[in-house]
Amino acid sequence: MSRIGADHPDARGRENRVESTLLRRINERRLLEVIQQQGPSSRAALTRLSGLTAPTVSKAVESLLKRGLVEELDPLEQSLGRPGRLVRMAAESAAVLGIVIDAEVCCIAAAGLDGKVTEEQTRRIPTPDTYGALLAALESQCRELLGGVTGRVHGIGVSVPGLVNERLEEIVFSPNLHLLDKRNPASDLAERLGIPCVLLQESDALCLGEQLYGDARGLRDFAVLDASMGLGLGVMSGGQLLAGHSGMAGEVGHITVDPDGIRCGCGNRGCLETLATDAALVRLMSEKLGRALTLDAAAALLGERAADFQHELRTVTEYLASAIAAVINIFNPTTLYVHGMLLAGNEERFVRVLERVKQRALTASLADCTVVATRSSKRQGAIAGIMHHLTNAWAPSIR
Ligand SMILES: [Zn+2]
Repeated sequence: MSRIGADHPDARGRENRVESTLLRRINERRLLEVIQQQGPSSRAALTRLSGLTAPTVSKAVESLLKRGLVEELDPLEQSLGRPGRLVRMAAESAAVLGIVIDAEVCCIAAAGLDGKVTEEQTRRIPTPDTYGALLAALESQCRELLGGVTGRVHGIGVSVPGLVNERLEEIVFSPNLHLLDKRNPASDLAERLGIPCVLLQESDALCLGEQLYGDARGLRDFAVLDASMGLGLGVMSGGQLLAGHSGMAGEVGHITVDPDGIRCGCGNRGCLETLATDAALVRLMSEKLGRALTLDAAAALLGERAADFQHELRTVTEYLASAIAAVINIFNPTTLYVHGMLLAGNEERFVRVLERVKQRALTASLADCTVVATRSSKRQGAIAGIMHHLTNAWAPSIR
């Protein structure tokens, strides 16, 4: 068999073709990012905002239209002359789905590629007891939603709690939902539905949601601390999700803070997550009352008679403040978004958490950082996760 050397004209031609394909894809990715950030834009605006030439923008838009990622619409009739048609993310002619698997409730939502989620396009089901029942329920909910979708479905983002090993492509274990241990519901659903599905650690998904659709647009160093059921952390460092060797970085919830504390879902005792979350506050309130409360019942009780639970509120406030301070000290984010219902979701209680953070964080690191309650949701995170995957699978980011 004859071999072609690297300097042979045929080999050089092949290299050039690979280079031009890659460049074309990078340009398309750049345009997608501009359209995602700016909303509907004319080709002239895209040329100005992307820094690409007009012919390159024109070619890239044609390719994105062909791939079904963007669609055109007529501009409002207010400008003089002949305004160009606007290009936007495909909101009517294409869709993605987001699935949030959580300990108590699962949520399934459909959205256009603009990522706008609505209650009409959302289903919620109690989390089934077995993995088989979970898959069957998710499949049937997805099929129902897909029945109402017009146009091409590009993929499904599946947000899961627990430790996700990206190298092994499985959930290693999920402390608060053990039926997910050693499973990959994304690949199982892809097989059942025939649609690409991507597995997302829920805190990473929250980070992507905040970056793509929330207040973190344009930020390169920020973090999201999820203090709802478990205590999860997603960190965006230099514009990239911090993954570690296998994608398992950021497990701040399993730092031991009380060596003799209660047993955590991970098997250890006294983990930060057993004391700093909504679930921790619900447990402490339930213990005080001598009966099990749901999250909603605990929220209602705190609204009616918070004074009865001062000790429980103080305990969880203190530990959540320590968790926030640890993240600020270790990762030096410009903004830290905190996700949760009972403390982060209540303005007055969150102010008290922030007062304690001042006591716990290094002053210089805290001076660099804004701590706010996130307005994004796990549902939005799952949608952002699949959109991030679709963009990343096409071309690398060059920013
Ligand atoms: Zn633990």
